[in-house]
Parts: sequence; structure tokens; C-alpha cells
Amino acid sequence: MHLARFPRIALGHFPTPLEPLENISRLLGGPQIWIKRDDATGLATGGNKTRKLEFLLAQALAQQADVIITQGATQSNHVRQTIAAAAKLGIRAKVLLEQRVTGFGDDYQHSGNVLLDKLLGGEIVAHLPAGTDMQQAMENYAATLREQGHRPYIIPGGGSNPVGALGYVACAEELLYQSSQLRLRIDHIVHATGSTGTQAGLVAGLTATHSAIPVLGISVRAPQARQEENVRNLAIQTRELLGVKEELPHTAVAVNSDYVGDGYGLPTPGTLEALTLLARHEGILLDPVYSAKGMAGLIDLIRQGHFRKDDNVVFIHTGGAAGLFGYREVLE
Ligand SMILES: *Cc1c(COP(=O)(O)O)cnc(C)c1O
Repeated sequence: MHLARFPRIALGHFPTPLEPLENISRLLGGPQIWIKRDDATGLATGGNKTRKLEFLLAQALAQQADVIITQGATQSNHVRQTIAAAAKLGIRAKVLLEQRVTGFGDDYQHSGNVLLDKLLGGEIVAHLPAGTDMQQAMENYAATLREQGHRPYIIPGGGSNPVGALGYVACAEELLYQSSQLRLRIDHIVHATGSTGTQAGLVAGLTATHSAIPVLGISVRAPQARQEENVRNLAIQTRELLGVKEELPHTAVAVNSDYVGDGYGLPTPGTLEALTLLARHEGILLDPVYSAKGMAGLIDLIRQGHFRKDDNVVFIHTGGAAGLFGYREVLE
């Protein structure tokens, strides 16, 4: 794969730890759950977007961009990490937020990630209604900036394009290295999937190295068939970028959408249970939009007997705890 031939800048603390979740594994009666601490990437409270941004911002620098544009939901972790990365590089960040989730109060609108966006020096240029074509809105805004003589670089929602997904190809390499260091046979990888770059990068990296470790994405938004198609398309494009010639095996992409509940950003009872269990038995903070939904899926699948007792399951903690403060009214 030779990832080092792609431009990359250092933004995070890597490798992130891979640790046993002893108390939760015991509580659930097996399998052995391991947690890959991508919440601990270090960039302004961390998270999975840091890995993608190492490749994306390197491309922005190569193109001599003087402003970064990106978008996300109000409490987007991606937007917060992008602003932090731009701050470190001394480039301005202008962001478009989407009111994708409605019905929450002041904390949702102003605390959590939104507070950090502003503290980090990001400029929220618009807060658009749910359902807006955000990619188009970014392109229109970029055109305006170009007319003013700027050189904008657009990062798609979640940083999910082939360049961003290279960050999770790197994570697949890192996991394989840790697995041999620890002599840990990894039987399954489970994580929350949204804009698809995380799963697509993992699948591209694991299949390109013929590692045959199944990856299961727990959807936080889209129904199964659509999410699988989106992950597959990005995994194929990412493998192309890597120069992989063979076809992607059909079984390489698996998504479970049973844990979405009422929709994106709306925690289910299972989400809140997972959040509380990890907090009280492991001292680990998940988030109500992504990682706790993913963990709720993992916990339920364990209860249903989906895994063998002696399996080693790696849950990737993709971060997001900064968003907890936006959800005070739900959590209290
Ligand atoms: C963005 C995000 C995800 C989903 O990752 P994708 O690459 O968008 O699928 C999961 N967890 C957290 C905390 C996130 O911010």
C-alpha cells in the first residue's frame, strides 16, 4: 500500500491505545471487547476526523489554500476537529452548519462542539435548515470566496472522500501492527458509521493487506442497503487511490442499521444505556450521536449471541464526547 507516498501532516497522537474493556466484557459474559482509543487522538478533544484531516489538510497545503470550508450538523465533531487543524496550520476555517436535529434547546445550539468551534477561531458563516444540499452550499460559498481572490479548499462532510479515507487505511495498518505486538487475534471490528470514510478506509486497508478481519458498521443514520452501498463505493475509490487492482469482495462491507432509532442525533434508550455503562464501569465517555449508538449495537449483538465467547472484538471509539454538553437536557 505504501501510505507514505501520500502527503500527510501530523495533527494527532498516534498510535492510539488499544485496551481491553475488562469490566464491560465481564459484565456481558464475553466476548473479550477491546477498545481502540481514537477518541484520544489529541486534536482539541480528539476523534476519528483527526486521521482523515492529516491527509486532507496536506492536500490543502499542497494546493496553497488560504481558507478551509467544511460543513456538518450543529454538533459536528468533524467541524470542530477541522477548525482545530486549520488553526494549527494558520489557515482560516469557515464552516456551514446544518440544523439537522431539531427539538433541543440552548445547550444543543450553543454549547458542546459549537462553543469549541468558536473558541478555536472557526467562523460559522451559515446555519442552514435541515435537508439543505450542504455540498452545493459549500461550492456556492467557495465561488464567492474565489471572486474575492481567495483559494478555498472544500472538505466534504465528515472528511469522507478517498483522500480522507486514507486516514483509516492508516488505522487499519496501526491495528494490524498492534495485534501482532500484543499477539492478539482480532476476530471482529465494530464501530459507528455515518459519512462512511471510517469504514471505507478500514475496509480498503484490511482487504488490500488480505487481513480478512470482518468490519461491522453500526449505522447512525442511513438504512442498511444505502449505507452499505455508500461505504462500498468509497472503499472502491480508496482502493483505486491506493493502486489496488483486484475487485473488492462483496462480503467485505457489512452494516447494521437496527440501532438508528428515530434518526440522526436522536439517542435511543440503548444509546443512553451504553453511554452510562461505559461511564460507570470503565470511566470512558462515549457520545450520544455516534459512539454510544455503535456501542449500543455491539452490546445488543452480544446479548443476541452474535459473537463467540472466545472472540476478540475491537470496538473503535471514534470520539465525540465534546458533544455531551450539547445534550445536557437528555442526559440529566
Ligand atoms: C464522524 C463520526 C463518526 C462516523 O465516522 P464516518 O467516517 O463519518 O462514518 C463516528 N463517531 C464520531 C464521534 C464521529 O464524529
